[in-house]
Amino acid sequence: MTLDSPTVTGNRGLVIEEPLIFEQGSPDKCGVDLPEPDDRPDRLGGVARSGPIGLPGLSEPEVVRHYTRLSQKNYAIDAGFYPLGSCTMKHNPRLNERMARLPGFADLHPFQPESTVQGALAAMGHLSDWLLGLTGMEAVALSPGAGAHGELCGMQAIRAALDARGADERRVVLVPDSAHGTNPATAALCGFQVRGIPGNDRGRVDVDAFKAALDDRVAAVMLTNPNTCGLFESDILELSTAVHEAGAYFYLDGANFNAIVGRVRIADLGADAMHINLHKTFSTPHGGGGPGAGPTVLSGALAPFAPLPHIVADGAGYRLVEHVEGDMQPFGRMKGFHGQFGVFVRALSYMMSMGVDGLRQASGDAVLNANYVMARLRETLTPSFEGPCMHEALFDDRFLKGTGVSTLDFAKAMIDEGFHPMTMYFPLVVHGAMLMEPTETESKESVDAFCDAVLALADKAKAGDAAFFTGAPRHTPRRRLDETKAARNPVLRWEPPAPAQAAE
Ligand SMILES: *Cc1c(COP(=O)(O)O)cnc(C)c1O
Repeated sequence: MTLDSPTVTGNRGLVIEEPLIFEQGSPDKCGVDLPEPDDRPDRLGGVARSGPIGLPGLSEPEVVRHYTRLSQKNYAIDAGFYPLGSCTMKHNPRLNERMARLPGFADLHPFQPESTVQGALAAMGHLSDWLLGLTGMEAVALSPGAGAHGELCGMQAIRAALDARGADERRVVLVPDSAHGTNPATAALCGFQVRGIPGNDRGRVDVDAFKAALDDRVAAVMLTNPNTCGLFESDILELSTAVHEAGAYFYLDGANFNAIVGRVRIADLGADAMHINLHKTFSTPHGGGGPGAGPTVLSGALAPFAPLPHIVADGAGYRLVEHVEGDMQPFGRMKGFHGQFGVFVRALSYMMSMGVDGLRQASGDAVLNANYVMARLRETLTPSFEGPCMHEALFDDRFLKGTGVSTLDFAKAMIDEGFHPMTMYFPLVVHGAMLMEPTETESKESVDAFCDAVLALADKAKAGDAAFFTGAPRHTPRRRLDETKAARNPVLRWEPPAPAQAAE
């Protein structure tokens, strides 16, 4: 299939073939009218700029159009269904944005005197209380800036606890094969040796292999629950008990907390540390790499080693503990200042507007929606594991066997149908993985529209129309990119075109 008739402009309806901003306008044009500067003595000495600055020259309406058009090329949760698994792109209530932009929150400076930021400290204190209430844990470090950073925080606390016990021989961290890549990376960064634990044919950790790997060199186990196959680790109590009996610590990766929040107290699972991706569970827009926040909750065994600062409420109001007090033995700090404050405000406003009952319903709806996807697709696609799932439905590429269509081709065809593709090729333990997470906010109508499209595409692939897939996407501003070349030879900087050679 080809597009019947390319347009003369290259534009397609409202999709404008937009040049780079440097290719528009001209450097001598300026969108604002500034007075000529007074004749001032040059104070820059030898570092003063000698040539033109080379900024693009556009008028205000040209700039506005440029960025508006670019924004129209962006697929976003505000534009349509976004089934990416593992990342949990979810609805971000506008109320949260309103709260985060209140001048009393947005215009603070971290060096302001404590007496002038009592409201902000109270918000951090309330957020801590919510996180401790929902998890049943002893302490929380708010400062980690993302999930991976929270892992670092939890594993550093474990490292400090081991050092305090003089357990120098414990240098191995067990990580299931299905883990997110950040888990082994974190363990390695903290100086631990990583040992993989195989899964069983039910998509869970193999308990026997797990127990066999526990010895007196093991420092900790890092486990994700629900795991990255979208399944609840049903043997988790047996696992955490075995970890503790072996003298090691139990790290839970809480990235999928959105599937169980309000239903499972993390302390009851035997966790010693767990990071919470506020941006995945408590709503913050986090496309394109940020911002996020990864507060880490700790058990009584690790609480003394929590990093500074701590937030405490005492008679005089809230205060930040920035230096060691009493018998605390912080392993250090995670970052300058106090954490991703704007994300804290969004998460707290989400929690307060939802209430505990609302959070509980959100996790229930997330699981219900995923199981609806699973039920509608399971006969046509190939689910990787039997039985119900948690918040995401995992399929592999067995249903495409012999069709000449790969998971990647299938995903590209979904783009043409107006859907963001699901997560592909993750988790790695499943061949050609397709991980679909509808999230709690999608209506039955929108989930049905998605399932209808996936089923129609699957039928088309099985009917032998491979070219339909391998040629996709056809309706996007750009088609298939040479991803290998882009990764190996990235062009990250615009260079002005070389001046045309004068004719001889
Ligand atoms: C997203 C994720 C992480 C890392 O969190 P970031 O906030 O992206 O750093 C870790 N583990 C799992 C299972 C995840 O899904």
